Amino acid sequence: MKKKNKKLDILMILTIIAGVLVLGAAGTLIGLEAGRLHTEVEAARAEREAKKAATDSGASSSVAESGLSDSNLTESIDPEAAAMALRATSDVIRGAAVAAVPNVSEYADAVQNGNLVTPIPRNSLENAGTGENPSEGNGFIVCIDAGHETNQITDLEPNGPGSDNMKQGVTSGTQGNWSGVYEYQVNLDVTLKLRDALAARGYTVVLCREINDVTMSNVQRAQIAADANADIFLRIHCNSSDSSSVDGVLCYAPTSSNPYLSEEVIERSQALSRIMRDAQCEETGQDALDNLYQDDMTGINWAKMPVTIVEMGFMSNYDEDMFLTSEDGQDQIVRGLVNGVDEYFSQYGKMEAAE
Ligand SMILES: [Zn+2]
Repeated sequence: MKKKNKKLDILMILTIIAGVLVLGAAGTLIGLEAGRLHTEVEAARAEREAKKAATDSGASSSVAESGLSDSNLTESIDPEAAAMALRATSDVIRGAAVAAVPNVSEYADAVQNGNLVTPIPRNSLENAGTGENPSEGNGFIVCIDAGHETNQITDLEPNGPGSDNMKQGVTSGTQGNWSGVYEYQVNLDVTLKLRDALAARGYTVVLCREINDVTMSNVQRAQIAADANADIFLRIHCNSSDSSSVDGVLCYAPTSSNPYLSEEVIERSQALSRIMRDAQCEETGQDALDNLYQDDMTGINWAKMPVTIVEMGFMSNYDEDMFLTSEDGQDQIVRGLVNGVDEYFSQYGKMEAAE
């Protein structure tokens, strides 16, 4: 009996030792794996920074054919100096931006409560960007729609004015395959930065939403742009593909035979789409993909002014997911888009009011 017990004791001790060893080994493996992942993320970041440095120094440009290179408006900006200037004036800019969008919160509330159509007082828009603000108002009104929202609207709405084709009010959008960040968040981040940057250049900016938790269909968003008398309507989105290797920037524009829009709005929307895509790529070094011409986009069909959907990059691609969700990437995109807005208005100016 005694012998047997001793044997049991030894067995038990051996079992405990083995257990400790197994746990130790597992811990080491987990540590190694975490280290490897971390190293990969670091390497990717270093690669992106190297790429950006190369782009900044002009060593590589995938959009040499963009046709914008001879324009004063798209002269390359020293990003370091620009960032410093932005930081230095950020408080002032914020003030200007707030002045420029006096009714945004009211709009968000009104839309949420289902009583949308309160036009922004015309005189408050005209006064924006003047007086104490750092730049005089330039007379142009830009409406920006940060695509999607935390909710989705499954109720259907007409795909265009008078259309029998019904589409979902608003879809949930995509999500970063690697970052896990939702598209509606990236769209909002970029939209808020874009608002500040445009206000600093004298634009009057109206946002469809400035928070994620809204319930706002695509028709309602186009309605906000119309009520604001916007000169252009920018719809900010991120793309996604089944293939993780697909990357680049593209815009959606109406076809030349879109039944809901005037010929002038169609032509200008197509031009705006080309200009915005090329301006973003010029600044970020992303690839410019072929723009898509479609007449099934509710927010385009209901627009009363030149409109584009900017698909800023693919959240299904590792590099672009990291880029789109980074502060630096978003700042680069915004610099490009602001140049695009300047370029559009310098070429096309205001559209004559429709008869
Ligand atoms: Zn989207």
